[in-house]
Amino acid sequence: MAHTDYPLSYYAATATPAPQRPRLFGEVETDVCVVGAGYTGLSSALFLLESGFRVVLLEAAKVGFGASGRNGGQIVNSYSRDIDVIERNLPTEQARLVGDMAFEGGRILRALVARYNIPCDLKDGGVFAAFTSRQMAHLQAQKKLWERYGHDQLEPLDERDIRAVVGSQRYVGGMLDRSGGHIHPLNLALGEAAAVEALGGAIYEQSPAVRIEYGAEPLVHTPAGRVRAKFVILAGNAYLNDLVPELAAKSMPCGTQVIATEPLDETLAASLLPQDYCVEDCNYLLDYYRLSAERRLIYGGGVIYGARDPQDIIAIIRPKMLRTFPQLRQVKIDYAWSGNFLLTLSRLPQVGRIGDNVYYSQGCSGHGVTYTHLAGKLLAEALRGQAERFDAFAALPHYPFPGGRLLRVPFTALGAWYYNLRDQLGV
Ligand SMILES: Cc1cc2nc3c(=O)[nH]c(=O)nc-3n(C[C@H](O)[C@H](O)[C@H](O)COP(=O)(O)OP(=O)(O)OC[C@H]3O[C@@H](n4cnc5c(N)ncnc54)[C@H](O)[C@@H]3O)c2cc1C
Repeated sequence: MAHTDYPLSYYAATATPAPQRPRLFGEVETDVCVVGAGYTGLSSALFLLESGFRVVLLEAAKVGFGASGRNGGQIVNSYSRDIDVIERNLPTEQARLVGDMAFEGGRILRALVARYNIPCDLKDGGVFAAFTSRQMAHLQAQKKLWERYGHDQLEPLDERDIRAVVGSQRYVGGMLDRSGGHIHPLNLALGEAAAVEALGGAIYEQSPAVRIEYGAEPLVHTPAGRVRAKFVILAGNAYLNDLVPELAAKSMPCGTQVIATEPLDETLAASLLPQDYCVEDCNYLLDYYRLSAERRLIYGGGVIYGARDPQDIIAIIRPKMLRTFPQLRQVKIDYAWSGNFLLTLSRLPQVGRIGDNVYYSQGCSGHGVTYTHLAGKLLAEALRGQAERFDAFAALPHYPFPGGRLLRVPFTALGAWYYNLRDQLGV
């Protein structure tokens, strides 16, 4: 891995102080070796430790180095494709189980924050913002769908209502999810890591898993050590690269970029987002934004298939921000960074086992803050021998990308161009 320190993000600049964690030298023995210290790995570790497992976590760089320490911080319910798609892809009973879990990740996240007293600027309320009446109709259908699964937190916003919560002229309406919200994502990851250690888990940083010997007692090798475990959990997501070729073959890393303005004065900040909700729009290639605790506007958007880092992030994201909030023309951008999420062809997460004792969860395709916390719980349940909910997820089909490694980027970009064009034309 070329870079092993945090990118120069607003989050890294305001991170909760964390201890220097050791590299792994020599052999250690444990019940579960978790590869990757993002939310998937950290929440798995927490639930396993709470159940009495011994856990060793290997992190190639630093806790929260991946998407978990760089994201928009938006707590969004359900999955990157909604429950209706799951209903079409699974038998009724399993679809019901997965649908019932669509709102659990956010609850898990909040419970962990409360249980371990994690300071991460948690705020309630998220808005889906619609540009067209077609998108509004889609949101109404989503409300009905979510209500069928017991989620009664959605409140429709007409054109006047949305102006009262988002100071932009762009939208015809939207939907407020009272149980959405936002967090300082890196501080959430760092708080979870501290909780892992408080429960007796070991975290090794700068310790990439470079090879796995599969078998009755898998061995996970790092450059200077190895972990012998009963179980392995692969939680490297878009940063796992080719460690496990069969996982790489059915997913594609994608980059997305975020900027943070200078701190805004109170009046200006309140004119943009008076209730301090986070917002994501309803386009296929969506923009997402919110205020930080010190009233910076954190604005993200854009997707680079294949995850190259763009040269000039501000040149990509600032024009998007100004289309939403032209009143910010004079405002300085203090930070700009990029991060990778893992796309799957179905845009649904991939969950499963390799052999009997190597488990994985990956590919939440953009919306992962809540799902990864659910995944941690499901992985821990499965290792405890209660795999019904894990298996329902694992039954979702995993498709390879058309075009293989060579052509998956241009093919997917073409598909996205089509959906983006439809959004731009409002059809
Ligand atoms: C810029 C950006 C904005 C986003 N905004 C949002 C948002 O607002 N809301 C939302 O719901 N989702 C958002 N997402 C998605 C969300 O952040 C991710 O889905 C989620 O954080 C993935 O968590 P993870 O633990 O699975 O993976 P990651 O957080 O990427 O963690 C994987 C970790 O594994 C480590 N690793 C990889 N390979 C190895 C190895 N071989 N050995 C040891 N360690 C390894 C990496 O270094 C990394 O720390 C965003 C993503 C990005 C990139």
